[in-house]
Amino acid sequence: MKYKKIIITYLFAFISFLVIGIQVEASKRIVIDPGHGGWDPGAVNYNVQEKDINLELSRLIKDRLDPFTEVILTRNGDEYLSLEERADFANVKNADLFLSIHHDSNYYSSAQGISTHFSSYRANIQSDDYYVKYNGKTYDYLYEKKVNGESYIFYSDNGKTKKAHVNNIIVYDKKPFHSVVQESQQLSLDIADALASLGFKKRYTSSGSKDHNLYVTRHTNMASILIENGFTSNLEDLFKIKNNQEQMALKIANSIINYYKLGTPVITSFGADKTSPQRVDERIIVNAKATSGEPVEYKFWQENVDTGEWTLLQNYSSDTNIGWEPSVAGNYKLVVQVREQGSTKSYQTYKSLHYVIEDPKPTITKFEGDKASPQSINERIIVNAKATNENPVEYKFWQKNLDTGEWTLIQNYSTDTNIGWEPTIAGNYQLVVHVREQGSTTPYQSYKTLNYVISKPNITEFEADKASPQLINERIIVNAKATSNNPVEYKFWQENLDTGEWTLIQNYSTDTNIGWEPSVAGNYKLVVHVREQGTTEPYQSYKTLNYVIEKPKPVISSFKADKASPQPVNERIMVSAQATDSNPVEYKFWQENLDTGEWTLIQNYSSDTNIEWNPSVAGNYKLVVHVREQGSTEPYQVYSTISYTVDNLELSITSFEADKASPQPVNERIIVNAKATSKNPVEYKFWQKNIDTGEWILIQNYSSDTNIGWKPSVAGNYKLVVHVREQGSTNAYQAYEVLTYKIN
Ligand SMILES: [Zn+2]
Repeated sequence: MKYKKIIITYLFAFISFLVIGIQVEASKRIVIDPGHGGWDPGAVNYNVQEKDINLELSRLIKDRLDPFTEVILTRNGDEYLSLEERADFANVKNADLFLSIHHDSNYYSSAQGISTHFSSYRANIQSDDYYVKYNGKTYDYLYEKKVNGESYIFYSDNGKTKKAHVNNIIVYDKKPFHSVVQESQQLSLDIADALASLGFKKRYTSSGSKDHNLYVTRHTNMASILIENGFTSNLEDLFKIKNNQEQMALKIANSIINYYKLGTPVITSFGADKTSPQRVDERIIVNAKATSGEPVEYKFWQENVDTGEWTLLQNYSSDTNIGWEPSVAGNYKLVVQVREQGSTKSYQTYKSLHYVIEDPKPTITKFEGDKASPQSINERIIVNAKATNENPVEYKFWQKNLDTGEWTLIQNYSTDTNIGWEPTIAGNYQLVVHVREQGSTTPYQSYKTLNYVISKPNITEFEADKASPQLINERIIVNAKATSNNPVEYKFWQENLDTGEWTLIQNYSTDTNIGWEPSVAGNYKLVVHVREQGTTEPYQSYKTLNYVIEKPKPVISSFKADKASPQPVNERIMVSAQATDSNPVEYKFWQENLDTGEWTLIQNYSSDTNIEWNPSVAGNYKLVVHVREQGSTEPYQVYSTISYTVDNLELSITSFEADKASPQPVNERIIVNAKATSKNPVEYKFWQKNIDTGEWILIQNYSSDTNIGWKPSVAGNYKLVVHVREQGSTNAYQAYEVLTYKIN
């Protein structure tokens, strides 16, 4: 785990307060491992035991890192630890970095230089892409296993599993992507460069850094580096080692500080001795604590979140506490800024804390009227408020008309706890009392409300003695009735809905009835306004009643024709209408041809009650009369209709027959009879045609005779024909009929 978020609760014994809720990101935990120790001196050259200078250098590195971060030594004395114990120590401590400090040695005194070692091969945390190098050849890595207490690397040689002692074989990572391997490699490069800057050569590789399967770097789970800090077997290196320990520790520590950016101060706590909220003028101790490699200084601010105003509480100093006594209530943000002493930055880090400061408030224990809601207007209501507070308080009384939203001040701040309230307008009210301490400049510190209904008259009845509609000039009694706690008065209006005109019928009085005689026809709205006597309101309640006033209309007493339907075309028909009315009326006559839907005006408005109707087209008709009073502008006031049929009635032969049935013998006398109808007298002409010879013979010329005696003397097939026409006609005939006859 690289980051640890922890909640620290510090108890500061010297001021004995609780610091509230600070979150700190812990700095890195570093394990430094001085190599060898106890019975294992490491390399010994020129009376220098490696175990001793490893511990000396490790302690110097720890001293340099301590102000910035947490450092633990695997040993702080001359004691022996196995390699396994050293790696396990760092793993159990959950360290972020393991640093093993050694010094090199060689049989040849010419060997010199520093080196840093890390392991890309970490069997504990990643083992999926390793390979091995052994005797100059590359093989697939299989696993690491202990045999008889010794660690062996098992690898695959053409499918055969082989093993080699871990000291004689190196495992590499094809893709060292794991973050702790990357950290290890980068830090090993940085440290090698840093030590080389002191004049050391780089050993083993050109960078001084080597991927190596050393036990402690291979078996730690975090970034891990082993440093060989020069050869004690080389006099040049040994001289540097003995004379530059401080600088070497500084170089190594600074590499770590820079790599992990440990240089900024960290605010580990920021809190107050009293929990928010507090009252104004309360003294609150605010405490901050920061850690850094250098002495730090603190600057304290407050921001009033309500106004956005920033105030400096204390400029930079080494004081970690301030006494804060805010005199204004509000929401605050307290801010501490921290920087290292001598820093030119305005701050390096900061932390903030929210705090609420409250005003002391009077408590309103009572706010009520002496009479229960609802009450009527002009009723005097005593409203009483009572507040408790450590200091004397004052009261201010308001009313809010909830119907209109209007606020009215009843009484300004005073020590009076009572007011007499006499509302003159009915409605829904909210009474409000504001309370504050005497001398306070805030509009109010506490308030309480009380809802009150000032009642209105209730109109229970508004009606007329005659049902709508009525005729003009009819007297209609309109009656209203209202209930109220107080005597009421009534005002009556009419609104002509057709014109929008309002007319006062009767002003306010105690009369509940009016006699209403409208002289103009139309649609009306009658309105009654009701209020309590003594109120200044135009009205407190109202009710409406819709009413229709009509004009008297003519009555059509008869509408008829002198001849009953049907009649032939061109027949003269007298049509007459009769209407009764108190005033003279006029008549207008129409015909509608029901077969075609066509309307035709027969005669426009006049006082004529009769018309002569002479239809020249056969058909089904509707006759219509419109009637109105003379001077009326309406199209008509009443109307009536008659249905009428007009026939053609043309000449037609209704029968043509013989008194004896065909066939008959020759010389038999046969009576032949024809019959025609027409509106005019007709005449008949009789023929015979011998169908066998085609010969036509006139039997009898035109006359009014309808019969002939026919006595054929020649056998044959005959056709008898009658021609008919109106007397006086010059046509050859207007109609004819044929009868076939056989003479044997
Ligand atoms: Zn060593």
